Amino acid sequence: MIVILKPKTPKEQVEEVIDEVAKLGYKPHPIYGELQTVVAAIGDERTHHTLESLIVLPQVERVMPVQKRYKLASRESQDGDTVVDVDGVRIGNGHFALMAGPCSVESEEQLLSTARAVKARGAQILRGGAYKPRTSPYEFQGLGKEGLRLLDVARRETGLKIITEVLSERDVELVGDTADILQIGARNAQNYRLLIECARSRKPVLLKRGMSERIEEWLLAAEYLLANGNPNVLLCERGIRTFETYTRNTLDLAAVAIAKKESHLPVIVDPSQGCGRADLVRVLCRGAVAMGADGLLIEVHPHPAEALSDGQQQVDFEVFSRLVEDLPPFLAAASRTLA
Ligand code: PEP
Ligand code: MN
Repeated sequence: MIVILKPKTPKEQVEEVIDEVAKLGYKPHPIYGELQTVVAAIGDERTHHTLESLIVLPQVERVMPVQKRYKLASRESQDGDTVVDVDGVRIGNGHFALMAGPCSVESEEQLLSTARAVKARGAQILRGGAYKPRTSPYEFQGLGKEGLRLLDVARRETGLKIITEVLSERDVELVGDTADILQIGARNAQNYRLLIECARSRKPVLLKRGMSERIEEWLLAAEYLLANGNPNVLLCERGIRTFETYTRNTLDLAAVAIAKKESHLPVIVDPSQGCGRADLVRVLCRGAVAMGADGLLIEVHPHPAEALSDGQQQVDFEVFSRLVEDLPPFLAAASRTLA
């Protein structure tokens, strides 16, 4: 931390700041300028008491952190990119993952036909919500346990790995029995009890960015998973809420580039929640790959018009085919390979 004192602060007031810095567990290093004094506080800011409260002293002009608040999620903590191994499907460090399937698991026919279609077109991982976080309590809430059973049937038949959302810390064990990847949704992005419980499961976790979550907060949420012993973390950009009304959310592709720069963790893009419009999913997939994403999470439905959730943003098999056919030059340009 750097503590900047106001110009012409008398010596005894500088001493007061130095004493406070030492009291809070840091080694103070005063730097006396002609006009202004700066006190560098040496110590690990991530685990020490924060010095930001020193701003209440009248002689303090500003307190500036030097270190990032996340440690394990940061590139500083590890050389090279993390590879998350999802039961044999590797994601990260050049390995690109295609995850696709319906927003919600609705029926055996709907799920299995989608699983077969996305597998035939190159997906390695099947998505499908059994427990749905719906804005209204009157909307379809998911099939629950029956949805998990159907996901299991789809895995056995197709060999696809399964990603599905866990809504509550009470369900982590149950959902983890079926899921190869636990999805933490945007609405739970900062539910720290749930994050800790998912970390304990040691299952790979896909952590969505909250709809009004800053990148730093998103990385700190990932830090909860890492600090609680689970290194298998996938970050997922799924759009943030802005003033724009042409899209459901604003897909923040700059956040993908920033997350890749700041963190060694793989970054997945969900263009479906990201814009809320089926007609834009295809171009957003190209954009996401070009920006350096390590995977895509795409909503695909046999008859989007009949979907029980998010029908407006789900692509049909035809559009999914075309979207996948688009990807090779973008993957090559980003040095990614689809297993
Ligand atoms: C979903 O993937 O269907 C979903 C509910 O996602 P999000 O948490 O990003 O809204
Ligand atoms: Mn959805």
